[in-house]
Amino acid sequence: MELSDAQFERYARHLVLEEVGEEGQQKLLQAKVLVVGAGGLGSPLLLYLAAAGVGTLGIVDDDAVDLSNLQRQIVHATESIGVAKVESARRTLHHVNPEVKVITHAERLADANVAALVGAYDLVADGSDNFATRYLLNDICYRLQKTLIGAALSPFEGQLSTFKAYLGPPHPCYRCLFREPPPPDSVPRCETAGILGAIAGVMGTLQATEVLKEILGIGESLSGSLLIYDALRAGFHKIKLPRDPDCPTCGTKP
Ligand SMILES: [Zn+2]
Repeated sequence: MELSDAQFERYARHLVLEEVGEEGQQKLLQAKVLVVGAGGLGSPLLLYLAAAGVGTLGIVDDDAVDLSNLQRQIVHATESIGVAKVESARRTLHHVNPEVKVITHAERLADANVAALVGAYDLVADGSDNFATRYLLNDICYRLQKTLIGAALSPFEGQLSTFKAYLGPPHPCYRCLFREPPPPDSVPRCETAGILGAIAGVMGTLQATEVLKEILGIGESLSGSLLIYDALRAGFHKIKLPRDPDCPTCGTKP
């Protein structure tokens, strides 16, 4: 498909880049990305992916917008309080880029629906705030051979990595890093621990950047590395994530 005149103008700053160009923009327009969670991470993720022209965006979230969300969940507006987050996000994204097809899934990811949901997309961005979802996505993305870009937040810190262990060694999966979820309630969630809102913006924006890089196939993938942002020290560092041959998900040993 040829780009329209309006698309040439809308995506001009992509088209001028040698690493993107018309071919790259076509890849973005044809891409289908599932964003899990329309919260602190999901907000900047969805906004930047829609603005970039990612053709199909699926949003999974079973929550409604609450006044206390607005301190960091910038895809939602005050007038959307009480509205389903997927619907509120869809409205905002339509204002940003009406060309993007937004598919809303107002449900919670569970064993019963995860394969069908993930299977309908090319790539998954995990912006969820709980370990059950993180492990569920890790295992299904490995099985269905989908690239997973996951981020996590704590009050003043963020972590980010890309998982594509289905490609084989040396790519690790999330379970190679943390084999089992921590005991329930041992790690406080945003709503109880608090968070400096802009940190969700930093991490969700980095996550969007990695999603775009994976679709375009440019630069260095974060697979095999964990990027850590320390907001109070204003520093980033990256640590290596080795693949665990004994990993229950991607391990090669019987
Ligand atoms: Zn693994």
